[in-house]
Amino acid sequence: TVKSRGRNGFDFFDPSMEAKSLERILMENELRKAIEQEHFQIYYQPKMDIKTGTLTGMEALVRWMHPELGIIPPNRFIPIAEESGMIIPLGEWILKEACKQNKRWHDQGYELKVSVNLSVRQIYQKDLLDMIKATLEETQLEPKWLELEITESIFVKMDEATIVLQQIRDIGIQISIDDFGTGYSSFSYIKSLPVDTIKIDASFIRDVHHNQESQAIVKAIVTIAESLNMKVVAEGIELNDQVAALQENGCGQGQGYLFSRPLATADFEQFLRKEQLGI
Ligand code: C2E
Ligand code: MG
Ligand code: MG
Ligand code: MG
Repeated sequence: TVKSRGRNGFDFFDPSMEAKSLERILMENELRKAIEQEHFQIYYQPKMDIKTGTLTGMEALVRWMHPELGIIPPNRFIPIAEESGMIIPLGEWILKEACKQNKRWHDQGYELKVSVNLSVRQIYQKDLLDMIKATLEETQLEPKWLELEITESIFVKMDEATIVLQQIRDIGIQISIDDFGTGYSSFSYIKSLPVDTIKIDASFIRDVHHNQESQAIVKAIVTIAESLNMKVVAEGIELNDQVAALQENGCGQGQGYLFSRPLATADFEQFLRKEQLGI
């Protein structure tokens, strides 16, 4: 084994540290290969108007289809893609794939909006706007059928983020704040943001049917959103009781396993056909 000399002169060897970094290196190599070989698939989760029960759009959620390990969920590799910078090419692939697919559905007569998650790292990518414009041009999807979901963590650099988001919005793309209520969120900055939709984090939805504090939070978010002309989406709806509580508190849209899990393309198409037939 290797012993290394620490900066402060102490000898140290931490096998767990070495093991971890080796795993990380392997993982990064695997991810790099996967990006080159396009070993990813986009799943789509329906977004519903909870008053009418109709479909309004879908969120694009990436999965890594590993040839030996099977499906790897985004929480396991998105953070590594972000830290290593690979989120830039991966994010571009995801956006193009989601726009291409949504354009196909539009050509089949389904007028749906696709929401794509954007990492903080992508927001501060220099040519983000050009990349988005080129993707829309190439896929021929109209900007109004695209929404980008960002999290509150981008507002660490509030001024920079605001400029980028404004530019994106100026070309007709919608912006949504994901996981609202968990991060740096505060009602004070929300008013100055170029944002169309607020997504209430699932942690407030989980107990909204029997917890008055969660109800109060939902109600407060809905009130603020209305006064700022923003829409509200509830995340992680699993129960009819939650839908009832959300309706009572004025929340208009929702997404969750109650309506559907995220679906592979073919399964989403089946969902679309059933929806069209009103089944
Ligand atoms: P998110 O954007 O907040 O997405 C919602 C997550 O909640 C998804 O997990 C979805 O499958 C899950 N979910 C939806 N409804 C329910 C429900 O009723 N109950 C429960 N327990 N979970 C529900 P997923 O697909 O594993 O994605 C996790 C996170 O990974 C996403 O959170 C997002 O932050 C990130 N992510 C996923 N796809 C992408 C992507 O294409 N790009 C980037 N940058 N991040 C992505
Ligand atoms: Mg999201
Ligand atoms: Mg979310
Ligand atoms: Mg999340």
